[in-house]
Amino acid sequence: MEVLDYDGAGDCFYEPVDLNNPAVLMQGGLDPSESDPRFHQQMVYAVAMKTIENFDRALGHPLRLAGVGRKAAAYPRLRLFPHAFYGANAFYSRDLNAILFGYFHADSSNPGPNLPGQTVFTCLSHDVIVHEMTHALVDRLRPLFLEPTNEDVLAFHEAFADIVALFQHFSFSDVLREYIQRTRGDIRTPSPLVELARQFGYATGSGKALRSCLGVEGAKLSPSVLEPHDRGALLVAAVFDGFYKTYQKRIYDLIRIATGGTGQLPAGDLHPDLVNRIAGEAARTAQRVLEMCIRAFEYLPPVDVDFGDFLRALITADYELVPADPDLRDAMIEAFRNRGIYPAAVTSLAEESLLWPTPNLPAFGADTTWRLQDIFFQAIRSFDTGGWTSSVTLPPEPQSQVAEEDQGEEFRPDLNAAFAKQLAGYASLNAAALGLDSKPPNKIQVRGFHPVFRVAPNGKLLVELVAQFAQQDVRERRTLGGVPFRGGATVIASAEGEVRYLISKPFDRQGGAQVAERAHARYQRQLRFISSADARNPKTPYMSSDEYDQRIAALASFSALHGG
Ligand SMILES: [Zn+2]
Repeated sequence: MEVLDYDGAGDCFYEPVDLNNPAVLMQGGLDPSESDPRFHQQMVYAVAMKTIENFDRALGHPLRLAGVGRKAAAYPRLRLFPHAFYGANAFYSRDLNAILFGYFHADSSNPGPNLPGQTVFTCLSHDVIVHEMTHALVDRLRPLFLEPTNEDVLAFHEAFADIVALFQHFSFSDVLREYIQRTRGDIRTPSPLVELARQFGYATGSGKALRSCLGVEGAKLSPSVLEPHDRGALLVAAVFDGFYKTYQKRIYDLIRIATGGTGQLPAGDLHPDLVNRIAGEAARTAQRVLEMCIRAFEYLPPVDVDFGDFLRALITADYELVPADPDLRDAMIEAFRNRGIYPAAVTSLAEESLLWPTPNLPAFGADTTWRLQDIFFQAIRSFDTGGWTSSVTLPPEPQSQVAEEDQGEEFRPDLNAAFAKQLAGYASLNAAALGLDSKPPNKIQVRGFHPVFRVAPNGKLLVELVAQFAQQDVRERRTLGGVPFRGGATVIASAEGEVRYLISKPFDRQGGAQVAERAHARYQRQLRFISSADARNPKTPYMSSDEYDQRIAALASFSALHGG
C-alpha cells in the first residue's frame, strides 16, 4: 500500500511525511492538524493499516493488495490519494487500484458544526477511510461481487463497508467510555458511536451524519427498497441489533451488581469503574462481531451473493470457531428475522439448518493432498515478515502468476499453478456435485484458493483450505446488460483434503433435475433484477446501443454510487 499526495484539483504534489523520521517517531507521529497535508497522509495510512490488520487477523491469512483485473495489473500496490480531487465524494477505483479522497467547501447556509465554506477533507474521516478500504479489501476477497446480479449484491458491498467502519468505533476506548457515560450504557442512543461520517454529513448541508447504523425502528427488508445504500442499511441495522442484544446480555450482571439487584441505575453520572467495565464488554463484543463478519467471507459463494447467504456464512463461521457458545449466533438469527432477512432454501431458522451443508463430495486425491501440505507450509512461512532464514532448502517462490485467458476474460489469480491445475481437475470431475458444468464450451475457472489458520478460544488450531470455482455463460452477456450469467462454488476442505462445506450457486441449467431447477431460478432472478433496474432508470430509453448493452455493469461504479 502507498500514500501518494497528488492534488488533482491544484495539479501539485504535497511534501510526503516520513513516519520513520526520528523526530516524528519520538512523539508517536505528527499531532492532529487540519492544515498540514502530512498529517492527512499519516491519518489515511494509519486508519487504512488498522482496517487491514482487522481483516488479516480475522481471516487468518494476509491479504495481498496488488491490483485486481487486467487494467490494474500495472499497480502492484493499492494507492491512497488523500487530496485526489475537488468534490464531496471519495471512492475506490479498481482500474486505478486506488482510493481517491475528495475535499470540498462546507455548505454556506447549513454547515452544522463546521464554518460556512470551511474546507472539509474526506481523508480526515475515519469512517470514510475505513469504508473505502473495505470496498478495496472485499474486491480482493470476492472480485465478482462487483457484478450486480441481484438486488443484494451492491447493497452488500455498501453494508459491509459500513459494518467494518461502525465496529471499529468501539476500539477507541476513550471515545467509547465517554459515550457510555453520556448515554448511561444505552449505546442505541444516537451518538457519534453509532453514526457514520458526521462531519461529512453536516458539511454537505444535510443537517445530520451521513448514515446512522441504528436503522429505522421496525423497518424490514422489502422488494421495493433497491437503492444500494438504503437496502444495505437494513443489513447494517440487523447486524447492529444482534450486537446490541448480545451486549445487553453481557452487561446485565454488571448493572445488577451496581444497583444492588434492582437493575435501575440511579440518576447522575455512572461510577467510572462501572463505565470502564461496560466499555470493556462493549469493545470485546464489537470486536467479536467484527471478526465474525469478516470471517464469514470464507463461507460466502464466489458469485451472486445475497443477504441470506451472509447470515448462513456468519453462523457457519462462528460455529466453526466457537461451537459451544451460541449466544451471538442466536442473537444474529433473531435480529435478521426481525429485519425480514431470510435465507432461501432452508427449512427453518434453527442454527443447524442455517449451517452450510456438508456435501457428498469425494476427498481430494493423494497428489493434491500432498501438495496441500506444501501450500500450508508456505503459508506458515509468509506469516513471518521478519525474514525467517532456515537451513532447509525451501521450494521455489510460492506465488507464481498464472494468467488465464478464458472466453475473452482475463484474470490473474494469485496462486500456485500446479495446485490450481489439480483443483481444476477435481472441479471438472465433480462438476455435477458442485452444480457446475464442465462440458465444452463451458469451462470451470479456479478463481483462487488459500489456506486459513485460526486459533479458537480453547487454543485449538483450525487449518483449512478455501477454494473458489466459477464459470460464466458468455452467450448471455449482452442480453444481461454487460453482466454475465455465472455460477460458482466455494469449497472448504480440511488439511487432509476432506471437503467440509460446499457453498454453491448452481450454473448448469441443463444438468440434473435439482441443480437445473436452482440454476434456472437464479437466472430468472437475474432477469427480474434487470427489469426492475431498467424501470428505475429514467435514462434507459435514451441510451446508445453500447450504453444499453453495458447498463447493468455500469451500476457497479463506486464513483457514481457514492456521488451526491
Ligand atoms: Zn461505498
